[in-house]
Amino acid sequence: MRVVTDAGEARRFRRALAGAVGLVPTMGALHDGHLSLVRRAGEENDAVAASIFVNPSQFGPGEDLAAYPRDLSGDLARLEAAGVDLVYVPEAASVYPPGFQTWVVPGPLAEPLEGARRPGHFRGVLTVVAKLFHVIEPDRAYFGQKDAQQAILVRRMTADLDVSVGIVVCPIVRDRDGLALSSRNVYLTPDERSAAPVLFRSLRAVAAAWGAGERRGKRMREIARAVLATEPLAAVDYVSAADPETLAEIETATGRLLLSMAVRFGTTRLLENVLLPENATL
Ligand code: AMP
Repeated sequence: MRVVTDAGEARRFRRALAGAVGLVPTMGALHDGHLSLVRRAGEENDAVAASIFVNPSQFGPGEDLAAYPRDLSGDLARLEAAGVDLVYVPEAASVYPPGFQTWVVPGPLAEPLEGARRPGHFRGVLTVVAKLFHVIEPDRAYFGQKDAQQAILVRRMTADLDVSVGIVVCPIVRDRDGLALSSRNVYLTPDERSAAPVLFRSLRAVAAAWGAGERRGKRMREIARAVLATEPLAAVDYVSAADPETLAEIETATGRLLLSMAVRFGTTRLLENVLLPENATL
């Protein structure tokens, strides 16, 4: 496994790889969710590249950039064991050198949900993803459904900017009690960790309502909020029932529905979602 920090070197090693290359972009602190993306990339490509970069431009002032968990040696051991061929670990100063001033600015799909709470977040995400695509030139790139709006925006960017990278969105990997794996879960206190599976229970209630024929967006949001309200440590930031194509809030679903939420446990903000009908048997 090659580990490189320099973009030129990353490009050189990538060009020496034969066949199709799958890229898994990450911010490190890797867990089984990330590794599921790596495995899928391995199944669908001849070689796998991963990147580890805690991208400063997608963190707002007052967010957890400095405190974001970092474990480079553990990450590299996991990627090596998973059979990754190339790991690109750039420095912030080389991704954003003095004079850097050109950004990928998303459109209205970045306005609601995470975009509304984290101004500039998706501009940072799309810019770094575009840069990673240009350095690695993957045939396919792997993203998690966990960050649903991010996956939607990355797809939109590749279509809008004629980027010839196939975008593959992989299912959410969860702990045994249903909590979605996240690098940020390490911030949870033991009490908060015990409380956090309420998110999964709320998604299950929504999926069950869908199964029973409920299609009203307002009712879906109420069902999720009612379950979340049973847990005193859960402070809801938002609950959304949106059209997964437009991210507009749904009155009555005629096609698919993305129920997504951000909920704080103490200082830790967790994201969850369920896509219906795909995940109806959650
Ligand atoms: P991050 O390191 O948090 O930026 O995540 C890197 C990639 O892994 C993103 O595409 C995430 O959506 C994906 N990811 C994070 N957590 C999970 C999970 N529990 N299941 C599946 N994919 C995930």
